[in-house]
Amino acid sequence: MQLRFSPLTLELRHAFTLAASSRTTTPAMLVELEHDGLTGYGEAAMPPYLGDTQSTATAFFGCLNASRWTDPFRTEEILAEIDALVPGNTAAKAALDIALHDWIGKKLGLPLHKLWGLDAARAPVTSFTIGIATPEIVRQKTREAEPYHMLKVKLGRDTDQQLIETIREITDKPLLVDANQGWTDREDALRMSEWLAARGVVLIEQPFAKTALDDTAWLRERSPLPLIADESAQRLTDVARLRGVFDGINIKLMKCTGLREAHRMITAARALEMKVMLGCMTETSCAISAAAQLAPLADWADLDGALLITNDPFDGATFDNGRILPSARPGIGVRRRVTS
Ligand code: MG
Repeated sequence: MQLRFSPLTLELRHAFTLAASSRTTTPAMLVELEHDGLTGYGEAAMPPYLGDTQSTATAFFGCLNASRWTDPFRTEEILAEIDALVPGNTAAKAALDIALHDWIGKKLGLPLHKLWGLDAARAPVTSFTIGIATPEIVRQKTREAEPYHMLKVKLGRDTDQQLIETIREITDKPLLVDANQGWTDREDALRMSEWLAARGVVLIEQPFAKTALDDTAWLRERSPLPLIADESAQRLTDVARLRGVFDGINIKLMKCTGLREAHRMITAARALEMKVMLGCMTETSCAISAAAQLAPLADWADLDGALLITNDPFDGATFDNGRILPSARPGIGVRRRVTS
């Protein structure tokens, strides 16, 4: 195969503010794997907290010898080889995994969800993220989210309750809340989870620091709301130790190295009777459409990343009545947008 890669800086529609940071762009890399007249597309989206950058991804891609991959169907071998090269670089690895899967789907003329035996119509409702912002901006974002039936709210500041109340002035849609490791006190967390449950919140993502599993298990015993692991659940090897600590896991392609491992994490979570959320970074429709191919296997989808940027070079997965639908086109199902 022939590998091509280029940097792309994703421009965010609104400044993206989390408990610990704020930014207006996300660095990304676009990848193409070409073989036998077909090109598979992939993407690495690298929000700063992941630790990858355009230069670390470029260095990683630069040390690969893609011409050795003469049979792209040998994904087990190829992806294991890529993963074993260095620890980390999970987003760059995901870009290659997505491009390889896209190529295979195109070669077979099928969208990936068909190859995995999934019914596109079973894809869940997707949430639309409302970041931490002033009440005016929160009202504006809540109104912009009108087509979506579920909202996700980033918490982790002392204005959290005001943020929820502001959204509740506008809408009574179900809310997912993401504390992004921002909570530190067990009793405060329990009171907050009870307060949130009374206001139509349906789950809490990553209440405590990713290593604070004792605090999380304590809260899970008492909380009226299910707890979902994000930062605590990076890869397949993390899933089993989270049983009894969290109720479910939020799987993101950029954390877990791509579709192959994401599919395995879903299988592992189901075997452990845990719930599954499919999440994303701010990403183009390339990585979002790849994740959407797995969406029929998830309980919740949080795949709004491409809606949050203004320079998406692709179209692919679509939204229908609040649900994300995997594209019926082969592979991950994306096309490059024609630019004038
Ligand atoms: Mg999260």
